Amino acid sequence: MVDIYVRGKFVITMNKERLVLKDGCVAVDSGVIVAVGKCSELDKDYRGKAKEEINASKHIVMPGLINTHVHLVQGMLKACANYRRLIPWLKDRVWPLQGNMTEDEALAAAKLTMLEMIKSGTTTFLETGLVGRYGPDRIIEAILNSGLRAAVARHVMDLTGYALEEGALHKGLIESGEYSMSDVLRLYNKYHGKEGRIYVWFGPRTPGAASVELYREIVAKAKELNTGITMHLAEVKEDVEYTLKKFGMKPVEFVKWLGLVGSNVVLVHVVWVTDEEIGILSKTKTNVSHNPSSNGKLGSGIARVSDMLKAGVNVALGTDGGPSNDNYDLIEEMKIATILQNGFKEDPEALRAEEVLEMATLRGAKALGLEDLIGSIEVGKKADMITVDYWNPRLMPMNDPISHIVFAAHGDDVNDVIIDGRVVMRDRKVLTLDEEEVLKEVDVRARELFNRVGICVDPEVKWPIK
Ligand SMILES: [Zn+2]
Repeated sequence: MVDIYVRGKFVITMNKERLVLKDGCVAVDSGVIVAVGKCSELDKDYRGKAKEEINASKHIVMPGLINTHVHLVQGMLKACANYRRLIPWLKDRVWPLQGNMTEDEALAAAKLTMLEMIKSGTTTFLETGLVGRYGPDRIIEAILNSGLRAAVARHVMDLTGYALEEGALHKGLIESGEYSMSDVLRLYNKYHGKEGRIYVWFGPRTPGAASVELYREIVAKAKELNTGITMHLAEVKEDVEYTLKKFGMKPVEFVKWLGLVGSNVVLVHVVWVTDEEIGILSKTKTNVSHNPSSNGKLGSGIARVSDMLKAGVNVALGTDGGPSNDNYDLIEEMKIATILQNGFKEDPEALRAEEVLEMATLRGAKALGLEDLIGSIEVGKKADMITVDYWNPRLMPMNDPISHIVFAAHGDDVNDVIIDGRVVMRDRKVLTLDEEEVLKEVDVRARELFNRVGICVDPEVKWPIK
């Protein structure tokens, strides 16, 4: 008797030979994948012998998606900061809203984001930076209850600037180096490794918001605790100006000088880098999270993904947050990554569907240091997988499962989600969060926040809403 037996029309295994099984089945027991193969071979051992059988005969079964750049609390801020470049986007809109959030509002936003991620097939994510005012403990408890797997970075800072703009950070988000550092350590001791699904990381703020001494302390502590670090880097040209002017180095040279590189580091965006800097990322095995929607929406630029991959850099995929994307649908993000890169490079094969699917699964797992546990459907790995219903006009006829997932599918096509061997969504009904309650609560709390802060009360719409 096993816990779950899934019978799919196609199983995208993402194993070493990247086998796609037709009429494939997967057996799961105690949270782990115990068998993968042709249903005709596995049925004699598992059919009728599982506590739960999932008939995915008009579905593609594939590894759960891994979103390597998420701002949970920004889920509430969609459309609140449109048509701005990064620094005014942060200073005038996003930071005042985040800097005024109560714990209850932050929690409501986080639940909304988690609900959206589950419903669009994400099973693991990297939160980039919680701060004290959001109530990080309650948010981490909510992640545990949602069933999701996550690396949760808590922000660390001791300066208040963004790049060369001193004092840019909103007062509601300012924390001391001592407090922010001690709170990461507190969260690490309390939650790291909890239920085998939570990892607590360091999330230093962007250059301009942390001193060299603090960065070095973070690097040393992360090494000592064997955990990760994630930071935005080289997102806009102002980041390059800052490190050049202040330290005489380009952004990647700067982080290398700090020791803030290596396989436990995920640098986010990395748009404005030279060939030499790409060489450093490759040599130091530093991971990159690519967020094409966010970079496009804010007019930041287009990251050199295919150059980085060619140079041997591990590039993963992320959605970023509500006001820069404006959704957390990693299936949509795969398509955007591909078509943008191919257009940018004037090469229809600059980033193929297979490569971007690797970015959203295996490369994401590697970026989080979890490549032995997740990212593929293989015996011995954790059972993090999803089914995608292809029996609809968007995905028929089913000519090529990989191409269809990347170019044709939407997050809404995800039908079932299993994380750590637990069925978290079945037939599009999320079992771990009350969808109606989450939506109702966020509807009220968002209005309260917007009215209190006086931002996004009336989004800056061109056309009248009456
Ligand atoms: Zn971000």
